[in-house]
Amino acid sequence: MTSLAEPLQPPSRVLLGPGPSNVHPRVLRAMSTPLVGHLDPAFLRIMDATRRLLQFVFQTRNELTIPISATGSAGMEACLVNLLEPGDEAVVCVNGVFGTRMADIVERCGATLVRAEAPWGRVIDPADVAAALRQCRRPKLVAIVHAETSTGVWQPLEELAPLVHAAGALLVVDAVTSLGGCPVHVDEWGIDACYSGTQKCLSCPPGLAPITFSPRAAEVLRTRRSKVVSWYLDLTMIQKYWGAERVYHHTAPISMNYALYEALRLIEEEGLELRWARHEQNHRALKAGLAAIGLGIAAQEQHQLWMLNSVTIPAGVEDARVRTALLEEFGIEIGGGLGPLKGQTWRIGLMGESSQAANVLLVLSALERVLPRSGYAVEAGAAVAAAQRVYAG
Ligand SMILES: *Cc1c(COP(=O)(O)O)cnc(C)c1O
Repeated sequence: MTSLAEPLQPPSRVLLGPGPSNVHPRVLRAMSTPLVGHLDPAFLRIMDATRRLLQFVFQTRNELTIPISATGSAGMEACLVNLLEPGDEAVVCVNGVFGTRMADIVERCGATLVRAEAPWGRVIDPADVAAALRQCRRPKLVAIVHAETSTGVWQPLEELAPLVHAAGALLVVDAVTSLGGCPVHVDEWGIDACYSGTQKCLSCPPGLAPITFSPRAAEVLRTRRSKVVSWYLDLTMIQKYWGAERVYHHTAPISMNYALYEALRLIEEEGLELRWARHEQNHRALKAGLAAIGLGIAAQEQHQLWMLNSVTIPAGVEDARVRTALLEEFGIEIGGGLGPLKGQTWRIGLMGESSQAANVLLVLSALERVLPRSGYAVEAGAAVAAAQRVYAG
């Protein structure tokens, strides 16, 4: 008898792409612990603790703070479908793939879309957000990406809430890549709705999307005139399962919630500030190493993410050939460019568990080995030595 499939034997990879990131063994073990029912008192305790831990990583006191049962994009969709009604006006900031995706969802909600744009690789100027708001009669929300994973741009958010709130709108922030890797202060920054994903700096497999709604956003949800267009993502129902009522909506993905619980516990144990500092240091070491062999970061100066390094591919070097060699010979995954940056950039992620000195030194030495085959001369050891100097302080 022949089998339809070979045994499951995925290779071990060093995941230095745009996500997923590597996962701590404790998180993998959590996923293989026994299932309980989604209304078992033991699971209800896990849910309550998960909400407390999410409030901690989001730096918020928001009651409505829960994981949505799907990947980061579902967090995006949940925020937009729950806050928007047909005919509403929404400003979306677009300077990469994920702003473009939000704009698409806004239109699918039947809302009127107003774009505030910047070229890919550059931050959105608050003056352009203000100008977009002036084009609206009654803007419902402004949506913006904190860490644009497609370009490596780090969007400053601190100035935005006063501007957005003065126009009577809500501030919606995509923190899929930033949460757990750099400061995200939901309450202090006046963010009304924020979503993330488990597979980036939270270092958990893809599968859940933590979200949080401020009291203002929760009020907008409560006073909707129409039903939420998505049944599955309707927070008016989902919050009754995560809140005191415990009303069945859909079966919570139990094992994924175990994984998130353990990943969040690891973050609490490490401490948020120390975790951010780790991401910063590994970014600085990688950047110094790349610079030593003539490779630059493509994102705007002063606005380069710690957890996602968008590297300009030197002229004459073949994108795919380098990435294939890294994967096949070194077990390292890095990402290619998206959209207009395809073939122009590599995306080296240093997210969560993947943000380690060992990985920085590994990917730099692998690049030193691989690049010369594309005719790009590299002094062996130069990149690694430059990174070592950063670690030596
Ligand atoms: C990865 C990502 C998403 C989408 O998350 P998925 O888990 O792929 O659905 C959304 N926004 C940003 C900024 C991301 O990096």
